[in-house]
Amino acid sequence: GDLSTASPIGNGYAFAVTDCLFCKIAAKEIPAEIVLETGRALAFRDINPQAPTHVLVVPKVHYENAAALAAADDGLADDLLSACHIVAVQEGVSESGYRVVFNTGTGAGQTVFHVHAHVLGGRSLQWPPG
Ligand code: IMP
Repeated sequence: GDLSTASPIGNGYAFAVTDCLFCKIAAKEIPAEIVLETGRALAFRDINPQAPTHVLVVPKVHYENAAALAAADDGLADDLLSACHIVAVQEGVSESGYRVVFNTGTGAGQTVFHVHAHVLGGRSLQWPPG
């Protein structure tokens, strides 16, 4: 994407990155079915759900992937993981079991380059994943 209007701070960006879908959802410029909002994170339903519960949890600021988020070392990754668990409880899948996935890189199936945790549950999940 075009990063020309982004303002880098460390490994992240203070403002929405141009043409980033999840920056636009976080800014409420594109509608989404939001299930949780915290100070630094937003959770919304995946548009193409792969399980009865399929929620994406994103930081409001832009990081390209989980590696960049982890490198930020500012507690945001902790917030994101906590938000995933809150979503699982809200969705009623915390007892039956759920999966948290960060596809990282095109080879792993990442298609949106604003880090997002998939929270999947509500059905039995196979291992290994496809
Ligand atoms: P990735 O393949 O791990 O990058 O996951 C991207 C996810 O975003 C996919 O599961 C898509 O179905 C989902 N997605 C793409 N566009 C939208 C949208 O506009 N709203 C909600 N989810 C979306």
